[in-house]
Amino acid sequence: MSSKGVLAGQKALVTGANSGIGKAVALALGKAGADVAVNYVVDEDAANAVVEEIRRAGVNAIALKADVSVESDVVAMFAQAIKQLGTIDILVANAGLQRDQAFDQMSLERWNTVIGVNLTGQFLCAREAVKEFIRRGVVPSVSCAAGKIICMSSVHQVIPWSGHANYATSKGGVKLLMESMAQELAPKRIRVNAIAPGAIRTPINRPAWNTEAALNALMTLIPYGRIGEPEDIARAAVWLASDDSDYVVGTTLFVDGGMTLYPGFSTGG
Ligand code: NAD
Repeated sequence: MSSKGVLAGQKALVTGANSGIGKAVALALGKAGADVAVNYVVDEDAANAVVEEIRRAGVNAIALKADVSVESDVVAMFAQAIKQLGTIDILVANAGLQRDQAFDQMSLERWNTVIGVNLTGQFLCAREAVKEFIRRGVVPSVSCAAGKIICMSSVHQVIPWSGHANYATSKGGVKLLMESMAQELAPKRIRVNAIAPGAIRTPINRPAWNTEAALNALMTLIPYGRIGEPEDIARAAVWLASDDSDYVVGTTLFVDGGMTLYPGFSTGG
C-alpha cells in the first residue's frame, strides 16, 4: 500500500497514459499514492494493463478513452474522471505525436493534426482541469495547492527542428500556454509547470535509438552520454505534482541529459 506516498489522497489524470512517458508517469503517480485516470485513444488493452499495474500499488485507477484534440471527448472524459474518482488534483497533459515532413511538402492535415493534439489538446484538458480546481479550491489536508498541471513539452520548445516544423511549433506554443496559464492561475493557487524531455526511449522516436548507428549519432547530442528512460521523466512529474515543489510556478524543468547545452560547442566551437 502506498497511502503514505507524497501524493496520498490525490486524484490524477494523465493523457496518453498507455504508452511511453505517460505510462511511466501514471505508474509513478500511483506508486506515490494518487488514484489515476489513464487516458488513451487507441489500444484499450494497453490502457487496462496500466490500470491493473497501478491498482497493484493499492490505489484506484480507471481507463478513459478520449481524443484530446476533440472538445466533446475531453469534456466527457473529465466528467467521468470526476464522477468516478471524486475530483481531480493533478493533470499531466502528456499526449502527443509527431507527423514529420519536409517543410515544402508539409500538408495542412499533418500541420493541423500535430497542433490539434500537442497544443489544442493541452489547452482543452487544462481548461477542464482548471474548472474543477476552481470549483473545489484548496483542501489543506490533501495539498497546499488548488491543483497542479504539468504540461509535457520538449527540448524542441527551444531547439528548432528541421523536418519537424509542426512539432517544434506545437511545443513552442506549449511553453507560452503553460507560462500564461501559470501567471493567470497562480493567484488561485493553481500551479502550472512543464517538463521538457530530451531524447527518451519510447515508441515516438524509435528510429533514433533502435540501431547502434542511430544511438551513436544520438549520443553526440547528449553530454550526459545516455538516452533518457521514461522513469527519468516520471520522477520529475511526481516532484512537480507534489507539495515538495510548492513554490515552483511557471517553470519548465528540462530533463534532457544536457541536450539543451549546445553540445556542438563543447570543444570550443
Ligand atoms: P508515445 O508515442 O509512446 O506516447 C504518446 C501517447 O499519446 C500515446 O499513448 C498515444 O496514444 C497518445 N496520443 C496520441 N494522440 C492522442 C490523442 N489525440 N488523444 C489522446 N492520446 C493521444 O510517445 P512518448 O515519447 O511517450 O510521448 C509522450 C509525450 O512526451 C509527447 O507529448 C511527446 O511530444 C513528449 N516528448 C517525448 C520525447 C521522447 O524523446 N520520447 C521527447 C520530448 C517530448
